[in-house]
Amino acid sequence: MKLALHWKILIGMILGIIFGFTMNHLGFNFFVEDWVKPFGVIFINSLKLIAVPLIVVSLITGIADLKDISKISKIGGKTLVFYLFTTAIAVSLGLILANLIQPGTFVSAEAGAQLLDTFKDDVSNKILQADAHKNTGPLQPLVDIVPDNFFRALTDNGSMLQVIFFSVLIGIGIILIKPEDSKPVVGFFKGMNEIILKIIDLIMLTAPYGVFALLAALMVEIPDSSILTGLLAYALTVVLGLAILIVLFYSSIYYLFTKRSPWKFYKRILPAQLLAFSTSSSAATLPVTMERVIEHVGVDDEVASFVLPLGATINMDGTAIYQAIAAIFIAQVMSIDLTLGQQLMIILTATLASIGSAAVPSAGMVMLVIVLGQAGIPEAGLALIFAVDRPLDMLRTVVNVTSDATVAVVIAKTEGLLHDPEIKNWDDNYAQNN
Ligand code: ASP
Repeated sequence: MKLALHWKILIGMILGIIFGFTMNHLGFNFFVEDWVKPFGVIFINSLKLIAVPLIVVSLITGIADLKDISKISKIGGKTLVFYLFTTAIAVSLGLILANLIQPGTFVSAEAGAQLLDTFKDDVSNKILQADAHKNTGPLQPLVDIVPDNFFRALTDNGSMLQVIFFSVLIGIGIILIKPEDSKPVVGFFKGMNEIILKIIDLIMLTAPYGVFALLAALMVEIPDSSILTGLLAYALTVVLGLAILIVLFYSSIYYLFTKRSPWKFYKRILPAQLLAFSTSSSAATLPVTMERVIEHVGVDDEVASFVLPLGATINMDGTAIYQAIAAIFIAQVMSIDLTLGQQLMIILTATLASIGSAAVPSAGMVMLVIVLGQAGIPEAGLALIFAVDRPLDMLRTVVNVTSDATVAVVIAKTEGLLHDPEIKNWDDNYAQNN
């Protein structure tokens, strides 16, 4: 019997956790570090390797297919509004939960002091990284979108917005010139698009082994569990918020717009969610998110190729809700009473900070430094949440990716570009096996 891909990935994850845990207890950490982890790194690298070429070719073909400039601005505007809407809901939900549950009151004064001391060096590192974002004018994010050299942007996975910008420009150029002139160019990019989607299929064949290695490596790096227990209330508040987003919010939006079963939707994007969990990076997951959403959910690639890369870079609901809860938690542990004004400020800054967070592991924590600073909470408080950040990062990345996929479906539906995946003419072989 052939197992579906998501089962294979899940089995790889569980075996990886058991293997890493056992090796950790037997004192064989070095074996996992030296002989297992590299395979996880190779897997993540191969996904990242394909992300930038995928964005370029799929955006160019997607926009060229739209054939109409006004359609691009309409889809673009709608996408931004939806992304902002879901993020604002996420931050507000985070604030409500943190105020209701008050996770900070569960941490004793000694535990708080111990955490602040243990992680103070790691914090200065994050503060330094955040400073690079802070020391710029208000319009800098806008300036950063326009590259002064496209090829330099192509060589940096952190410059996704720049790559998106230039690819959109090429797409628009294609629409504006005579069809007979654009035909060879479009043909080339369409062919490349197919090739890249095929490469993603190939990479995904190794996914179960990749996630095995990633999770085994994670298990030997996990910090002392006595520190973790004090943070349980905080971690559970974040998990609750993330769960509400997935179980109630996105599934309702999905159902409301499509009248289709959210359960089936989640099952179809599950491999992307599992990869988000294993890699903690929406950018590394992007190729798989696109493949699942186009080939298995039925979103037309004209929409997916634009909405998903943009979402991976700017739409981070999981990060936003985490930043809101973490800021309030830190304030509670440090006995700082936040006024309503300060809390509203957190809504604003966490929304912006999540947009500015890179789609890589721990980026949300770096940007949290800015949220704390704006709300008048000492940045050293970051040390309080350091120990549990990795597992929460894995979970918030799942939400980030789920949100992108949901918005892609909504936009496709409202544009009449959502197909029925059951009758979509995908590669039969692939559909049967996955
Ligand atoms: N790891 C997250 C992502 O890639 C960002 C974060 O740290 O919150 O989506």
